[in-house]
Amino acid sequence: MTPAVIVLLGANSIPVAKKIISVLPGAQLYGLAGRTSDVDVAFTEFGATLRELFANGTPIIGICATGILIRTLAPLLANKRQEPPVIAVAEDGSAVVPLLGGLNGVNNLARQIASVLDVKPAITTTGDIRFGIALEDPPVGYRLANPDDAKSFMSDLLAGHSVKLEGNAPWLRNSSLPIDQNAERVIQITEKPVVSTSTRLVYHPATVAIGVSCTSPRPIGHPSSLAGRGRGWGSEEIALVQQMLADAELAPASVAGVFASTLDAANPALQAIADALNVPIRFFTTDEIAAVMSQNNTADGAVAIALAASSGRLVMQRQSSDFSCAMAIAQGAVAKPIALAPLPIDINSTGKPRGRLAIIGTGPGGGDWMSPEVKEILRNATDLVGYSTYLGLVGSLGNGKRWHESDNREELARGQMALDLAAEGRFVAVVSSGDPGIYAMAAAVFEVLDQEAKPEWQGIEIQVAPGISAMQAAAAKIGAPLGHDFCAISLSDILKPWSIIEQRITAAAQADFVIAFYNPVSKQRLWQLAETRNILLRYRHPDTTVVLARNLGRDGESVEVYTLEDLAPELADMRTVILVGSSKTRMIQRCDGSVWVYTPRRYDEDKTS
Ligand code: SAH
Repeated sequence: MTPAVIVLLGANSIPVAKKIISVLPGAQLYGLAGRTSDVDVAFTEFGATLRELFANGTPIIGICATGILIRTLAPLLANKRQEPPVIAVAEDGSAVVPLLGGLNGVNNLARQIASVLDVKPAITTTGDIRFGIALEDPPVGYRLANPDDAKSFMSDLLAGHSVKLEGNAPWLRNSSLPIDQNAERVIQITEKPVVSTSTRLVYHPATVAIGVSCTSPRPIGHPSSLAGRGRGWGSEEIALVQQMLADAELAPASVAGVFASTLDAANPALQAIADALNVPIRFFTTDEIAAVMSQNNTADGAVAIALAASSGRLVMQRQSSDFSCAMAIAQGAVAKPIALAPLPIDINSTGKPRGRLAIIGTGPGGGDWMSPEVKEILRNATDLVGYSTYLGLVGSLGNGKRWHESDNREELARGQMALDLAAEGRFVAVVSSGDPGIYAMAAAVFEVLDQEAKPEWQGIEIQVAPGISAMQAAAAKIGAPLGHDFCAISLSDILKPWSIIEQRITAAAQADFVIAFYNPVSKQRLWQLAETRNILLRYRHPDTTVVLARNLGRDGESVEVYTLEDLAPELADMRTVILVGSSKTRMIQRCDGSVWVYTPRRYDEDKTS
C-alpha cells in the first residue's frame, strides 16, 4: 500500500503525529507552512494538497476535525472501491475516526493508530464490529469474486442468518462469523471459477503462480519489439495463458503473479500478461531457477520458475514458438483436507519486482521549484544515489531511504552503482540539482548503459524526470533574458579541452546568442572566466548586460546585473550561473529601484534598438 500521509495544521499536533508515525513506517508528515516545523512537506494550500493526495490514492490521516476532511474531499467522492483510507484523529489523540476507504482497510488502519494512542477507534461498520471482519475488504491474498453481493450478504448475517464455509481461509475461520455447516448461505474459498450468487460469496485465494520463460527473446531494440508496443503486444501469449487457466479450471483471480527470469525482464509480453491478469510480475535470478531445476531434473525454465514461486506442484505447461509458460499451485491448494489449505503466495517475499531507475532533477534549490513528479518519485524510491550536496536538497523527502552518497566527480561509477541497485529490484532515484539532463547525471547513466550492456540491466525500467535548470531559475528571477535564441556552455575543462570551449564561445558570440555559462569558475579554475570575457568583448559591446545568479533557491541567493566589461572571476563561484546578453538584451529600471532584464522576441533592428 502507498505510505500514509499525516496532515497537521498546527504544532500542537506533533506529539500525536510522532506516535502515529512510530507504527506506520514510511508515513510522511505534511504540515501547514508557518504553523508547523520539522515536517517532511510544508504546504500552503490545504484543500489542493489534500485533494491531490486523495486522488493519488494516498491514505490520509488528518489531525483535525472530521468536518474539515469531509468538506474538503466531498467533491471527489465517486467510487468507494477506489478511495484510499481517510482518518480523522483528535489533536490530543483522544479520538480516531475512520471516515472513508472502508474497502481499502481503513478500519484496520484506525485500529492500529488507536492502539498506539491507547484509545478505542470509532468504528461504525456494523459487520466489522460484530464479526471482526469486512467481507467486502478481504485481506491481501484473497479476491472476492462477487463484491456487489457482499453488502446484502453481510446484512443477512447481521439479521441472524448463519453461514457455511467451503474451503478454508484462516481470516474467515478465525473470525466471529456465525458458522454452521448446515447453513444455506455459503462462503466458498476456491481457485476454481465457480458460480457466485447473492447467497454464495466466492473468494479466490492467490495461490496460482504463472511461470513464463521466453525461449527466443526478441533482441532489445529489434524493430518488432518497438513497433508493436501498445498495439496488442503479447496478445498471443495472453491468449495462451488464459487458455491454460481455462484448461486447468482455475480462476484468473486466483493467480498471484507472473514470474520470470531476470534475463527476460525487458520482454514486453510479460507486462502484457501481468496487466491482462491484473497481477504483479516478480523475477528470479538464473541461480534461483537453476536451484529448482537441479532438484527436479525434468523441469525446464518456465516450470522451475512457477515451482520456485509457489513452492508447490506443477499443474500444467504450454509452449508456443518462442515462449514457454507453466502453472504451479501452492502446495496442497486443491483437494486437500480443509485444515491443510495453503496460504496465498506472498508476492512481497517471492522473487523481486522489476527494478526502476529514475534520474531526477530537484530544481536549483527549494521544494517550490521541484516538480510533483519528482516529489512522487522521491516518496516511493527505496534508494537515493547522488552527490551529497544534491541529496541534501531533497530534504526530508529522503527520510527512510537508503542513501548512496559519492563524490561529485565519480559520475560513471555512480551511474553503474545505480544500475546495479535497480537490477536487484530496487527503486533507485539518481538525484541531480537543476535538470538531470543538463550537465548532470542523466547523460552519465546513458553513457554507462551504452558502453557496458550488462544483461541484468536490460530489464530495468528507466525514467528521466526533468527539473528547473539554473539558467531558467536565474532568468525567472531577473525577467526574461532567455526570451530569444540562446545557448549554454559549461566552462569546466574536466571533460573537454579548453580549445573546444574557446571555439564554442567564439561561435556563440559571433552568432549573437544569449549565453548561459555553467561551471564558470572553481577553486582551481579562475582564468577561464577572464579569458571568456576577453573573447566575448571581441564581438559584444562592453555595455552588454550580464546577470550573475548565485545559490538560486538556496540560502544566500543573489542575482546581480553587471556589464560585460565588469565581469571578473571574483564575482562568481561554483554555485553561480552567468547569463550574458545578446546585442538585443535590455535592462529596465523601475521607479522602486528594481531592475528587469529581458531579450525581446523580435530580431528587428528598427523596433528594438
Ligand atoms: N544540472 C544542473 C547543472 C549542474 S552543473 C542544472 O540544470 O542547473 C553545476 C553548475 O550549475 C554550477 O557550477 C552553476 O553554474 C549552476 N548551478 C547549479 N545550481 C545552481 C544554483 N542553485 N544557483 C546558481 N547556479 C547553479
